[in-house]
Amino acid sequence: MDLSIAIPLYNEAESLPELTAWIERVMQEQGLTYEVIYIDDGSTDDSWLVIEALHKKNDRIKGFKFQRNYGKSAGLYEAFKAATGKVVITMDADLQDSPDEIPELRRMILEEGYDLVSGWKKKRYDNTLTKNIPSKFFNAVTRSMSGIKLHDFNCGLKAYRLQVVKGIEVYGEMHRYIPVLAKWSGFHKIGEKVVEHRARKYGYSKFGWDRFINGFLDLLSISFVGRFSKRPMHFFGLWGSLCFLAGFVMAFYLLLSKFIEPSFSLTNRPAFYISLTSVILGMQLFLAGYIGELIARNSFTRNQYLLESKIGL
Ligand code: UDP
Ligand code: MG
Repeated sequence: MDLSIAIPLYNEAESLPELTAWIERVMQEQGLTYEVIYIDDGSTDDSWLVIEALHKKNDRIKGFKFQRNYGKSAGLYEAFKAATGKVVITMDADLQDSPDEIPELRRMILEEGYDLVSGWKKKRYDNTLTKNIPSKFFNAVTRSMSGIKLHDFNCGLKAYRLQVVKGIEVYGEMHRYIPVLAKWSGFHKIGEKVVEHRARKYGYSKFGWDRFINGFLDLLSISFVGRFSKRPMHFFGLWGSLCFLAGFVMAFYLLLSKFIEPSFSLTNRPAFYISLTSVILGMQLFLAGYIGELIARNSFTRNQYLLESKIGL
């Protein structure tokens, strides 16, 4: 199969027939074999009925429905598990992303050798204050923390090589950082393409202000998990030991001066408190690292490594 098109949706019943017809038209023009995977994220409107009706007319339209609303990342995770096309496209269901971009995205993956191509909504039809300005800030921070030169990390329209979606695990609200996840898994050829963005035609945006707080925390954990999840001791152990050592040396010095000059008072010197605190802090950091190591040892993914190719096996 040439293409799997994964579309997470939450209460988007009005948009689905139009979106499906548009995708079908583009695929027909290009003569591509494809599947559309709709992930109904626990919609409370008629979305699922619409998907069932669309499947009856065209069995390339597939889908599953979550029992409740789990979020966009969960939807993408399940869709990535199910995808079988050589190239996987993700897009939003609200008609803000244009299916006309799909052939060019696919071409960039197949001919230019990209692992992932992200859409860039250069001209954006969303609210300036609540969406455009905060998202500029987020993209700048993500760019500098991840070292990936993308303008628009959170664009719903993206194309992937099949191995990429099988090799990454999107969880929590990590759909914003899929390029970062891909890079950590060793897929370095990440590109972008300016895509047409349209105003929302039906329904309303499902993401509010809280996405900025959650998004920032996710960015912190992603940069941390990527580097240290398999070896927490290398972070906590190092800083814990250094902290402990600094406190210990200071305490030793204070005790020594007490022996040399018994009239010397320990408790009214700042160094005394600093040394105590850093000994305790150092111990705690070290313990956090040690517990982290034990957890990492028990994790069933501890020895899961991605193989790029095999020979003779
Ligand atoms: N979505 C989802 N689950 C959610 C929230 C959103 O599957 O809990 C889908 C939504 O239906 C849409 C896409 O994710 O297809 C992007 O959401 P939205 O258009 O509301 O975000 P915005 O474009 O405003 O950032
Ligand atoms: Mg949208």
